[in-house]
Amino acid sequence: MLHKIQFQATPDVAYDPSRLPAAAARELGISTARVKRVDTLRRSIDARRRHVVVNLSLAVHVDEIDTGMSLYTPTPFNTLPAHAPQAVIVGAGPAGLFAALRLITMGVRPVVLERGKDVDSRRIDMARISREGIVDPDSNYCFGEGGAGAYSDGKLYTRSKKRGSVDTVLQWFCQHGASTDILVDVHPHIGTDKLPEVIKAMRKTILACGGEVHFGTRVTSLLTDDTGSAVTGAADAEGRKWQGPVILATGHSARDVYRMLHSSGIELQPKGIAVGVRLEHPQRLIDSIQYHSPQGRGRWLPAAEYTMLTRVDDRAVYSFCMCPGGFIIPAASEPGQLVVNGMSPSNRGTRWANSGMVVEILPDDIPDSYTAYGPLRMMHYQADIERRFFEAAGCTQRAPAQRMTDFVASRPSATLPSSSYAPGLVPARIDKLLPEPVARRLQRGFEDFGRRARGFLTPKATLIGAETRTSSPVRVPRDSETLVHIATPGLYPCGEGAGYAGGIVSAAIDGMRCAEAVASTLNQHSHL
Ligand SMILES: Cc1cc2nc3c(=O)[nH]c(=O)nc-3n(C[C@H](O)[C@H](O)[C@H](O)COP(=O)(O)OP(=O)(O)OC[C@H]3O[C@@H](n4cnc5c(N)ncnc54)[C@H](O)[C@@H]3O)c2cc1C
Repeated sequence: MLHKIQFQATPDVAYDPSRLPAAAARELGISTARVKRVDTLRRSIDARRRHVVVNLSLAVHVDEIDTGMSLYTPTPFNTLPAHAPQAVIVGAGPAGLFAALRLITMGVRPVVLERGKDVDSRRIDMARISREGIVDPDSNYCFGEGGAGAYSDGKLYTRSKKRGSVDTVLQWFCQHGASTDILVDVHPHIGTDKLPEVIKAMRKTILACGGEVHFGTRVTSLLTDDTGSAVTGAADAEGRKWQGPVILATGHSARDVYRMLHSSGIELQPKGIAVGVRLEHPQRLIDSIQYHSPQGRGRWLPAAEYTMLTRVDDRAVYSFCMCPGGFIIPAASEPGQLVVNGMSPSNRGTRWANSGMVVEILPDDIPDSYTAYGPLRMMHYQADIERRFFEAAGCTQRAPAQRMTDFVASRPSATLPSSSYAPGLVPARIDKLLPEPVARRLQRGFEDFGRRARGFLTPKATLIGAETRTSSPVRVPRDSETLVHIATPGLYPCGEGAGYAGGIVSAAIDGMRCAEAVASTLNQHSHL
């Protein structure tokens, strides 16, 4: 018989599968011998009190194993018939890949066009950024199979309230090889070492069902009908053309795509962003703060996380994309930029904890000199910060850095702590490199965070900049029902680059929604 139970356990029990049967038996008041199997359904850490506990929800198989019990039911991805209608997806990030998978389930053939390389070949170009400071504008941490989500932290939390869609995303990740732990943990995480295999498995599904995936295919124009107002397909730099409604899922770093849309007369809007730095602490220090123990996290607890949020002068100052046990990486997508981001392996085992620390910037906040750029003004503001940091580091991929306490006190750092950032650090006045309203708010924000978490504001922590790619600086506006661009039939702006998602899961959900919108239009027409 299957019993579902909930209780609190100490970390050594909650994270050790060999001890769960005895703990479950005790909760049920039965002998351990009667417990045939235990499945963890949900697991969350409660570190609010001095002694950390883990909330567990378990399925306990008593006397016999319930063979009908499984964490999820796989979705069938069937081979498409030869006459299946076709849709074009530009970009193989989470939005594009999940759009392709969802199209298949609705009988539409996805043709995925991706400017970068396959997920394995990307690695060589990413290594060159760290080793030689060379950024390939088509193959880097942002561009290539899997998009910005491939060599990321793989955190799969989202603020999305669409529980059904979140579950589908997590299940499709599992169906393509991710650990079912992501269905269990309240803060699921895959890890940069595991994500590439999952992405490859998704590509195999798309190809096996009759879809197409083209690498090294940078879309440079959209095809239109005779009137010139409706999009009918996409073309690449070599003049190759693909016909069908276009799901444009090119991410927030494809500035050439925003320029192409703008010059083609497609309506765009400026969007608020957040900019700042990556903040790196020793992971041990974060563990001791969050788990209230000078000994750190001990054998069983995972590397501790934090989130910080305050308001300074009417703008949000917050931590973003925290990577426990991770490293900071060079995330520029073109030469002449210095952009940092963070990721972590599945075991979150490095000596460092890093997080974006950013300040909200609205279109009205930036200097009037950017007005001339129209809807691209936030993009130009963002690009100027990245160029300033690049030049401050001697036009290399080494990154400007300053100790946290020196930044708050507006003074230079004579030395810097060791860092996970592979290209290396250059001591710099980040308090002067950032726009003044951003630096001032970050300084006050850090003082506030230091008061809330003793030990957080410390000379052992380093600011490394610039963190500018927190979200899209442009919105490609679409109808909220049909998801079609507000003035361009046939064009479906999708994912983070269109301004409708932030993070892997929400981009994936948006990809699925766009696929549903495209498929329902195509299927309607095919019945006419
Ligand atoms: C280092 C790093 C770590 C991150 N960690 C996390 C995390 O832990 N959790 C999380 O939720 N989010 C994380 N993110 C953010 C997350 O990766 C993005 O939110 C997500 O990938 C957005 O998905 P997307 O499909 O909309 O766009 P993207 O992932 O940006 O994909 C866009 C794709 O379009 C392609 N493309 C661009 N222009 C063209 C063109 N002209 N023609 C053809 N193809 C084109 C690009 O090559 C790219 O593959 C991280 C990002 C980075 C960079």
